Amino acid sequence: MDRREFGFNLFEGFMLRHKSFSTPEELKSFLEISIPMDAYYSCAYYENPTAEMDRKGWIGADLIFDVDADHIPTDCDKVHDEWTCSACGFVGKGVTPEKCPICNGEKFNVTTWPCETCLESAKTETIKLLDMLMDDFGFSDREIYVFFSGHRGYHVQIESETVLALDAIARKEIVDYITGLGFNVKPLDTTQRYFYGWRKRINQSVLEFINKATEEDLVRIGLKRNLAKAIIQNKNVFLENWVSGTWRNIKGVGPETKRRIMEHSVKMRSAKIDTVVTTDIHRLIRLPNTLNGKTGLKKTWLPANEIESFDPFDEAIAFKKGTVPLFVSDAPRFRLGGETFGPYKRQKVELPTSAAVLLICKNKAEVLG
Ligand SMILES: [Zn+2]
Ligand SMILES: [Zn+2]
Repeated sequence: MDRREFGFNLFEGFMLRHKSFSTPEELKSFLEISIPMDAYYSCAYYENPTAEMDRKGWIGADLIFDVDADHIPTDCDKVHDEWTCSACGFVGKGVTPEKCPICNGEKFNVTTWPCETCLESAKTETIKLLDMLMDDFGFSDREIYVFFSGHRGYHVQIESETVLALDAIARKEIVDYITGLGFNVKPLDTTQRYFYGWRKRINQSVLEFINKATEEDLVRIGLKRNLAKAIIQNKNVFLENWVSGTWRNIKGVGPETKRRIMEHSVKMRSAKIDTVVTTDIHRLIRLPNTLNGKTGLKKTWLPANEIESFDPFDEAIAFKKGTVPLFVSDAPRFRLGGETFGPYKRQKVELPTSAAVLLICKNKAEVLG
């Protein structure tokens, strides 16, 4: 603990960094006095955590992953996510672009919502990530810590001797592996049995994909209409061929078609992580068990093998007592703590504290009276 740097977002609107604490009690009394909006600590360990950045003396860092709905396109992000260019005021829906399409500006005001569908898709990506970390990299669940971020995603943190000294370049290699970047899709010898790694993953994924695929699915991944038709009509032949590795002819299906299908499988099985977070060896990450200032929900630890059944809208609730009278300007329908609320539009309501805090954090409501 005393080797990490701590940082805090204050309600006064600035960031306090380069703090260090030697005991949990010391940290706790600091939190009680300063009451920050958000609390962070470094994935890195330093000789002098309180020194200037280049004088800290980097010792090593945990390996961290951030899976956030902000980086996963969903059907609903165009409904509930909106960005406004700080430079020219242009407004768009969905995933925030890197540059404003009008003025090339790079600063945006972003409104997002922790919706069920988005969090479900973040969970799916996290499960794919965990699968690779355990099966391919061989990390044990004692080294892997999984958290709900308190907003729109999950954090995975690996604390292990083996990752400590990895530099940014080594971490980038891990990122590329997990995102399937630069994957050179060569035809697999499907007569071989693949027990681990991307080969196993692609092999399974192709079978699953073709099994469920419609003609439209195949056209969507870039196959010509007549080829798509031929594969769908000869689905069983294709699947048998794939498993046996001996290719009985389906008219027109050659190496190029197989390559397209395999490339699609890589895309399906890669995990959509925020790549910048993992390669940043000085990164500040949200402190576990603290409130996320965007929602009032807790960054919550969960056992890696229980992620499927984890319900962020229940288990991350911090405020469990009382109600608050509010004026809500605009809020979608949402679920929290086993209750469903809204949608609300310019109306007075009395809500349980956790729901009220969420709407206030999201700038959608004000306290009455
Ligand atoms: Zn702009
Ligand atoms: Zn959504």
